[in-house]
Amino acid sequence: MKVLLLNPPGNRIYIRDYFCSKTTKSNYLFHPVDLVALSGTLAERHQVAVLDCMAERLDTGACEARIDAFDPEVIVSLVGSVSWNEDRDFLSRQRGFGRRIIVIGDVLHERSEERLLQEPWIEAALHDFSNADILHHLDNQLSAVLEMTLRDEQGRPMRVRRGERKGSFRIPRPRHELFPSRGYHFSFARTAPFATVLTDYGCPYPCTFCVIGTLGFKTRPVADVLEELDELRSRGVKEVFFMDQTFGVVRKRALELCAAFEARGDLSWTAFTRPDTADDELLSAMRRAGCHTVIMGVESASDEVLAAYKKGYRADVVREGFARVRRHGLRTVGTFIIGLPEEDEASLRRTLELALELDLDFMSLNMAVPRFGTPFRARAVELGLADPSDLVMDQGGADAFLPTRTLNRETMLALKKSMVRRFYLRPGYLWRRLRSVRNLQELRGQVREGLALITRNL
Ligand code: SF4
Repeated sequence: MKVLLLNPPGNRIYIRDYFCSKTTKSNYLFHPVDLVALSGTLAERHQVAVLDCMAERLDTGACEARIDAFDPEVIVSLVGSVSWNEDRDFLSRQRGFGRRIIVIGDVLHERSEERLLQEPWIEAALHDFSNADILHHLDNQLSAVLEMTLRDEQGRPMRVRRGERKGSFRIPRPRHELFPSRGYHFSFARTAPFATVLTDYGCPYPCTFCVIGTLGFKTRPVADVLEELDELRSRGVKEVFFMDQTFGVVRKRALELCAAFEARGDLSWTAFTRPDTADDELLSAMRRAGCHTVIMGVESASDEVLAAYKKGYRADVVREGFARVRRHGLRTVGTFIIGLPEEDEASLRRTLELALELDLDFMSLNMAVPRFGTPFRARAVELGLADPSDLVMDQGGADAFLPTRTLNRETMLALKKSMVRRFYLRPGYLWRRLRSVRNLQELRGQVREGLALITRNL
């Protein structure tokens, strides 16, 4: 079959992958990792093309022309709550042309049967991009499907849940070569081009505001990851964004990966990890293996908030973790969640103070959003802060989606913007950033990202 993997067009630059959709916070856009994984799975048996209208900046007309030229029988498309009305208009029109439409995205992450009932143009929804469900579905082997919402013979939606959501998984080598060679930007990349790679799927931690913690946790065999990286290297791609949510969570495997990267000697990469995972042994191995930037969750300066949302560590662990990363000569990115119901002006002030104390290279502030399928969403609905029928939202937290108990959405957004300006516009900080730039490519990227970030926070 001819199968098209589609990131549909939109009025803004959307990131829709890993069951979370958002507008970009500065100017970054990485490869949609769901489609990256599915490209390997599908290419084993079908004729596959990738059309990423975000990376290629294609409008609706240009996208439709490209679809017509390929003339796929099946479209597997990303959808997102951030762009739900646009996605629905575009894809239902494609269904009208006789194409089969299979979707994956946050908006189907809960109450998916209800969604399919309301949206007759959707043939089925995928809920896991690391398994072979798409192949089984296209082969009509429904008994082999693990995690999908399908239609029975009468067209009634049914949610299938047979997945183990743990252990290991294999995907045939993702076909990075099918993705556009230009159009993706990653703030922390030191060279171009870069690739987005997964060595595991999901996350074993239970942070209640996070969707990835609801997906289970599975790892890929080291040999499969290396096959993917070696193919990328053979095409000159040596900069990698590992999208694993906690690099090093399975210690022995992470050290094995690092040893193999070190032996190759030419990789340059960024990864997420946690302050309670990144000890000296792991950080030293990561550094030797080419890692230059580490992203870790700070979330909040308050131990009470960290405990209430099941983060699993305290602020003193965060302080020690970031100091350790810096000692190993790695750049630090701290991510924060602000605007939880408990938030007030004093707690925001403490958060900014912590960000400054940690001496971060980059601070990423995310507004609390009731992401589909999370315990936090259930609580926000219970507190009357979120409406369960509201399907359209930016899950990246660039805007204030929720009021807190003491701050309305406008005040919250204004305070967040002022925190971004106070962090990034310090002369000493700007000078340090400038000095750390290693090449012209990186300088261009930093200026582009920096200007986009500041403009969005004026
Ligand atoms: S916030 Fe990070 S550690 Fe917590 S569940 Fe999500 S991905 Fe895992």
